[in-house]
Amino acid sequence: MIVDRLGRRFSNLRVSLTAACNYACTYCVPDGKRLLKAKHELSAANMLKGVQLLQQATGVDKLRITGGEPLVTPKFDQFLHGVMAMNLSDVSLTTNGQLLLAKKDIIRESGMKRMNISLDTLNPLKFQQIARGGDLDTVLKGIDAMLELGLKLKINMVPLRTSNLSEVVPMLKYCLERGIELRYIELMRMGHLRNNNSYQSDFVSMEVLLDEIGQEFEFSRTEAPWDSTAARFQIPGQGTFGIIANESEPFCRTCTRLRLSSSGHLYGCLSNASRHYIGDILDMPNHLALPKLQGILVTALGDKNLSFQGEATVMKFIGG
Ligand code: SAM
Repeated sequence: MIVDRLGRRFSNLRVSLTAACNYACTYCVPDGKRLLKAKHELSAANMLKGVQLLQQATGVDKLRITGGEPLVTPKFDQFLHGVMAMNLSDVSLTTNGQLLLAKKDIIRESGMKRMNISLDTLNPLKFQQIARGGDLDTVLKGIDAMLELGLKLKINMVPLRTSNLSEVVPMLKYCLERGIELRYIELMRMGHLRNNNSYQSDFVSMEVLLDEIGQEFEFSRTEAPWDSTAARFQIPGQGTFGIIANESEPFCRTCTRLRLSSSGHLYGCLSNASRHYIGDILDMPNHLALPKLQGILVTALGDKNLSFQGEATVMKFIGG
């Protein structure tokens, strides 16, 4: 196993199945970038081979399927089927939820136990303004369908000062009523936000969020696993919520994440544009592929920063 001097290793793999997305969220992509996949995307079979090799080379045991939007690609069904057959301790999905109804059967058959659904507002107008695609009602029906299947759900919300700050409490109430854990994600300086004034005007800190929530709910902080990205809070008798506080409480020193993009690049750190192409080793026999991959992983682990600086890389390419 490859470990760095802080004890960080790669145990969580995020696979961006495609860079294509049916939304164009204001904080994720600038205008005009919707539905584009990367120029040369790996096939589902090659991505599965990549996961197998990474499992052997690093001991990756948790995998999250993400994107882009993972449900827009025809690769999804084969990939999900393939990873569920591997001996991973956890397989989950991050989706905007727009296509969950269409994928209900394949998700049920796969045996997946949990997923994260991204939703920034319960207001249809604000939904259109932020997502610039899709439709709120379809997402809400998708959430109901996943609850019916018995999946454990988390909802990801990115609070933005100039648009959905007033949704912080309504979203929490919606989630608590349904036994869903809401996770507020502090806006990250990624892609076009890196050097953009809108980042400063839209950023909502953990302190501001807790203040908003505190006006309606009593809560206390609870324990979270050592490598968790979220600070977790308990509302007695009602449920929990989390805050992924990249800026207020960076978790870089305990980060165990590795990302595989749809174009076949490994990223060791969200806050570092360095990437390492592994597409060419996926066709090699294991005894040749593994040593090459191990060398790449040592470099990728060295890419991990000690603090979150943001990056010019667009989230939809490397998977959020
Ligand atoms: N399409 C899927 C979805 O919407 O969940 C998966 C990919 S999306 C890039 C993953 C997560 O990243 C979403 O929850 C999204 O809100 C979040 N995200 C994208 N850009 C972000 C940014 N600049 N800051 C914080 N979160 C961001």
